[in-house]
Order: sequence, then C-alpha cells, then structure tokens
Amino acid sequence: MNTPRIAIVGGGPAGLMCARILQGHGLEPVVYDADAAVDSRDPGGTLDLHADAGQIALEDAGLMDAFGALARIEGQAKSRRDQHGTVLAEFIPAEGDVAAPEIDRGQLRTMLYGHLRPGTVRWGHKLRHTIPLGGGSHRLEFANGVGADVDLLIGADGAWSRVRPLLTDATPQYLGVCFLDARFDDVDVRHPEVAAIVGDGHMFSADGDGRAVIVQRNSNGVVRGYVAFRAPLDWDVAAGVDLTDRDAVRAYLLREFSGWSALMRPLITDIDSDYIPRSFWALPAPLTWNHVPGVTLIGDAAHLMAPFGGHGTNLALLDGTELAHAIYKENSLEDAIARYETAMFARSGELAVSSNTALARFFATTDTPHLPPDHAQEHRDYEARAAEYRRRQALDDLRNDA
Ligand SMILES: Cc1cc2nc3c(=O)[nH]c(=O)nc-3n(C[C@H](O)[C@H](O)[C@H](O)COP(=O)(O)OP(=O)(O)OC[C@H]3O[C@@H](n4cnc5c(N)ncnc54)[C@H](O)[C@@H]3O)c2cc1C
Repeated sequence: MNTPRIAIVGGGPAGLMCARILQGHGLEPVVYDADAAVDSRDPGGTLDLHADAGQIALEDAGLMDAFGALARIEGQAKSRRDQHGTVLAEFIPAEGDVAAPEIDRGQLRTMLYGHLRPGTVRWGHKLRHTIPLGGGSHRLEFANGVGADVDLLIGADGAWSRVRPLLTDATPQYLGVCFLDARFDDVDVRHPEVAAIVGDGHMFSADGDGRAVIVQRNSNGVVRGYVAFRAPLDWDVAAGVDLTDRDAVRAYLLREFSGWSALMRPLITDIDSDYIPRSFWALPAPLTWNHVPGVTLIGDAAHLMAPFGGHGTNLALLDGTELAHAIYKENSLEDAIARYETAMFARSGELAVSSNTALARFFATTDTPHLPPDHAQEHRDYEARAAEYRRRQALDDLRNDA
C-alpha cells in the first residue's frame, strides 16, 4: 500500500505505543493530544504491566530495558485487610518473579513519549469534529483551529473518546462507585503507620458494605491512597460537600467510614493532597461494532472497564502494538483494521466482563470476608499465556513468510 496518512488521537499508553511500533516499521504517524505537554496533569498512580500483555508490547517496542530501569519488582506485593485492620491474606513475590512489576503511570507515559521521534506528538490539539470524506478518509478539526485530512484515524482518546461515535453509539455507564484519589508524600518519614500498612506494594481493604480503602506504593516515597464507596454520581451535591474543601471531604468520610478502626483511619484522613474524584465508568461489555473504513479504536476508547484486575493499560499497550503490526503486515488498511479488531474484540470483551464483575463483588454487601485471588497462580498464568502468545506469533510469522 502507498504510505498512508495516519493520525492517532490520544497520547496515553495506547496511542504512544502504537506510534512507537509504527515508527519501528518505517511509518510516520502523527499523535494529537489535548494535554498541553506530556507532564501537564497528574497522571495518577501505579500500574502493573503483565507478562502476557503490557510486557509483550514493551518487548516488541524494544523498551524492556527502559521499563526495567523504572519498574518496581517488589511492588508486586499485595495484602488484604478488613476494616479493623486484620490481615486476611498476603502475597510476597518469589525471587525472580517478574510477571507483573509496577511502574508509575507518569513514568510510563514519559518513557514512551521519550522514545518517539521529535515532533511526533502535537500537544494542545483537542479533537472537536471528525468529518468522513469517503473512501475511508476523514477530516479532523481541532479546538485550536488546526485541521488534518487522514487515511487512517486511530482513536486512542480514552474513556470519553471523540472518535468512538464514528463506530458505535455505546457510551460509558457509571458503575456506582465513587473513588477519591489522594496522596501521602515522603511516607516512610512522615506517615510511618501508612508505610507499615502498605508495605512494598498494595493493600486492599473492604468492609463488606460497599466501602473500601486501597493504598499503593509509588516511586520516590509516594503512596497513593484511594477511598472508595458506593454512591450516586452526585453524592457530593446531595451531601452538600465541596470536593475542593479537603476538611469538608474528610469530615464526610469520617462519618461514612465510622465503622473503620483507629488503625485504618489515617489512610482516610492523613493525606497530603486534595481528594480527587475519579468515579468508575465502563462501556457495555462485551462491545463490538461493524467495521467502518479508515477508523478504529484502541485502549480505553474501545473497551473502558472497571480497573479491577489491572487490565486497562495492559490492553491499551497490546492494542497499540497489534494494530501497528497489522498495518505493516497486511496489504490494505481495511485488512489491518479487520485483523486487529477480530483479536481485540475477543480478548477485551472477556476481560471487561470479568473486571466489571470483580468490582461489583468487591463493593457488594456481604458477611463473607473479601479474599483476593491466588496471586502466585495469577503470575504463573501471565507467564504461561505470554509463552503461548509468542509461540502463536512465531507460527504466524512463519505462515506470512511462506
Ligand atoms: C483509578 C484508576 C486506577 C487504574 N488502575 C489501573 C491499573 O492498576 N492497571 C491498569 O492496567 N490500568 C489501570 N487503570 C486503567 C488505565 O488508567 C487505563 O486503562 C489506561 O490509561 C488506558 O490508556 P489509553 O491510552 O487507552 O487512554 P488514556 O490513558 O485515558 O489516554 C487518552 C489520551 O487521550 C487524550 N484525549 C482525550 N480526549 C481527547 C481529544 N478530544 N483530543 C485529543 N486528545 C484527547 C487524553 O489527554 C489522554 O492523553 C486505572 C484507571 C483508573 C481510573
């Protein structure tokens, strides 16, 4: 095929990874992102990159060493407590276990961006309109007045994708859980009680009545704390709580979490940041659409799901990689989109359903203690699926060469 004009809208993990692999194949995509710069907003907390998804993408992109320099292997540790602070389960990764190391989201984004050719990403470009021009081409119009005509439009623009309506009417639905994101700085010195509870990795706790606290160690002595509870979307309006008033939110949470022990309460109250609301939304799952020439979606734009299972970024990276390989290998853009979408639909539908179910269970009212999955087995499964993925990929390459 002639060199196609490729636009990737969205410079998150999906879009940046797709651009990196395309460049490795000698193509020149342009990435447009609404953000003013790679680090212009708080990127959120830590992510685990699984051997059978995120790490496959990093390997294909030649970025495993760059990832290894930032990854926290000890961050794979996990514990589960109840609202009294009683430890219900603990997982410490075995020596040599690298099935799902952690990396700060901001570090991952900066690392991916830093491995693109200069000028690939156009910051400050918020997509406003897309106009089909026929034959699979689209005109993009950005809020800053810039326009571009492209042969392939890749929507990597996350939960509230502006590209998605070209393919489906599906929109994210609120999952009924409010999630307040907060930060503890210099935790080992300033918050030793929090450091002791979070350990090297993550601590999940739930009270069996729709309330939870999750704390996760990030790099540089930072712990991100998430206080979550079942609530309607406008709970703050109904409760008269100003979300920008830290004391008011704290007072509300102390009432809401009154059954939680003194040991656990500092996780809710002693934060160094504001409480940032990040409500949970998900697209209907499994989601598919009929093929539309010249346009497709990767990452959250295609399959926004509850973050229970840690699949979102992993799938975003793998989607970007597989679509880029397909564009290089197939004879036409349409064949590439069809090949990518067939594999992506099958993979993401199943994981979206299981992630959304896991969230519903975690926040359900129940007398049974919330026990975690068997993480050691989960890690063995990641490794086994990674080996199977590589075996299938090698067979596929042999078939293509024949
Ligand atoms: C609280 C929370 C915890 C999570 N924890 C995990 C976890 O542990 N592990 C995991 O794998 N996943 C986790 N996720 C999910 C993960 O964050 C997402 O799945 C991942 O970021 C998806 O990447 P993406 O590139 O598809 O989209 P995004 O990261 O959302 O990137 C989209 C990009 O598009 C840009 N954009 C949006 N609209 C426009 C527009 N109109 N024009 C131009 N640019 C636009 C945005 O600026 C952004 O840079 C979590 C999510 C949440 C909310």
